[in-house]
Amino acid sequence: MPKSDNSLDRRLPQVEKLLKQIRITLSLIPDFPAKPKMTYRNATWRSLVAAFTLVCLSVSMPAKGLVQEPILQTGESVEPPQPDGAVTVSSEQQTETNRDSIARGVVFSDVDKDGRFGPGDSAFVGIRVSNGKEIVVTDQNGRYEIPIQEGGAVFVIKPTGFRTALDANKLPRFFYLHKPNGSPQLKFPGSRPTGPLPQSIDFPLYQQPEPPAFKILLFGDPQPRNNTEVDYVAQDVVSELIGDKSAFGVTLGDIAFDNLDTFRTLNQTIALIGIPWYNVIGNHDLNLDATERENINETFEATYGPSYYSFDYGQVHFVVLDNIDWAAPTEKIQRWHYEGGLGEQQLDFLKKDLAMIPETQMVVLLMHIPIISIKDKSDFFKLIEKRPYCVSISGHTHDHRHLFLGKEDGFNGEKKHHHIVNVTVSGSWWSGARNDNQIPHATMTDGAPNGYSIMTFDSNGYRLDFKAAGLPASEQMRVHVAATVDTNETQNTDVWVNVFNGSEESTVKMSLDNDDEWIEFRKTLEPDPHFVDLWKRDEGVEPKLSKPKDCFHLWTQKLPAGILPGVHLIRIQTTDRHGRTYHAHRSIRVTGTQVPSAQATHSPEATVTGGEE
Ligand SMILES: [Zn+2]
Repeated sequence: MPKSDNSLDRRLPQVEKLLKQIRITLSLIPDFPAKPKMTYRNATWRSLVAAFTLVCLSVSMPAKGLVQEPILQTGESVEPPQPDGAVTVSSEQQTETNRDSIARGVVFSDVDKDGRFGPGDSAFVGIRVSNGKEIVVTDQNGRYEIPIQEGGAVFVIKPTGFRTALDANKLPRFFYLHKPNGSPQLKFPGSRPTGPLPQSIDFPLYQQPEPPAFKILLFGDPQPRNNTEVDYVAQDVVSELIGDKSAFGVTLGDIAFDNLDTFRTLNQTIALIGIPWYNVIGNHDLNLDATERENINETFEATYGPSYYSFDYGQVHFVVLDNIDWAAPTEKIQRWHYEGGLGEQQLDFLKKDLAMIPETQMVVLLMHIPIISIKDKSDFFKLIEKRPYCVSISGHTHDHRHLFLGKEDGFNGEKKHHHIVNVTVSGSWWSGARNDNQIPHATMTDGAPNGYSIMTFDSNGYRLDFKAAGLPASEQMRVHVAATVDTNETQNTDVWVNVFNGSEESTVKMSLDNDDEWIEFRKTLEPDPHFVDLWKRDEGVEPKLSKPKDCFHLWTQKLPAGILPGVHLIRIQTTDRHGRTYHAHRSIRVTGTQVPSAQATHSPEATVTGGEE
């Protein structure tokens, strides 16, 4: 405690600071999201805030506890104490004045749900708490202490069976940001001043069932340019997920498209799903006007917390990584720019984090830039190559891919490492012609539709399902073939199958009409001709559809020779790496008057039956 001091002169800076904080507090009121009963729009609450403020002033107390509240961790809005509150801080402040202070607190089961550690709550022993460099565990009294730097954060690593506090938008509040003077002035606001380090930074946890089998939702790059595009996210993707029962969701970076004002509306939109939502930082989520490298994440941090962290759910350990490295101008790129990289400090955190996770446990690494494009991937690979149960997932490239990384990629594990580049919510950045709902089709440059993934875990096992926005879950591929073909040309006619979630471990085959004979397809690496057609068709449509790119899940085969004139059915069957089979079909009209030859096995009469299997 600072010594009591009644000199007006010496109190003046405190009073000024408090007034500033009050001004900030009150300026936020109109933006506070509507909540039933308890909102700051509500005049009663406003009066209460004002009254409390006046009381604080009149007794010339430092602004203890008033704005040192969740406001300072959430960076979003002033919230009244919530039963399900965020990280709580004590009313005392530390006296340390050096840049490195010690953060102390307790991790507790908030039994009475008042957000504060008190009688009736129980402290947790052995819970991991980190500052992004060190990881400590709570002692027998649930207490931790860890150094914290100005501008840094302290966070709890959520243990299995408990959740952290959530804010009004279901964003996990698992951290405390230590920015005594707040973020610098930036185009998109960062954190408000958090003031001196509180004496106790406490993390409440809430018990929840976490069975070994559970699902999560994965959103790649929603990337809205503005609120109209946030509406696309709402109508095209979120609307079909309202009430979804997944354990939680993750946005894999490029939450925004440089316009960080969209964080707020997007958070409110995704919150409609009704599940906790974690966020990974992407290269379009940065404060591009920051003049110092360390200020590039200010708005992200103020909204979502530290840019890398970890947590447990069920039997799985999740690590969220920040692989956006802000790099100084070079001869080649003569401005500040991003590169893919984790940096020494984060790699060190990852090493310490994984050291506490048994090798028999499933580890999921979530990042924005695909693992193959980060400059320190070899150091990164060393940390995971001994883990038999480890998968990593990214976004960023706006196509969908399964990579199996081996020695040729610098990964020296016994088993190949599975890296998934996830389908994006924005598809090809919300471009292309609009549908009936005025939403761009946004087909990705690999020809797959925009959408999201559903990942299912069961102990150490996992699988990923592709879900195209607005289409039934059974829509897993697109068959591309000419609508009509001359009977003399069938053997020169290509059939293309784009299996959206296909990998090198998938198989694709076709059968004509009701034949039992199946013809295997060949996997190919080239642009999907369906997308090439779309791209030509949409020329001149703004925003412009991106150029077709090689598709990593495309198969091709020729039609058999000598198909007789008439309408025929092409049946396609694909089996994925988990042995699951999906079906599709496509009709083709064969023209011409060729006299049936001995090889001609497909007669038009055979096409009247068939259909979805
Ligand atoms: Zn990106």
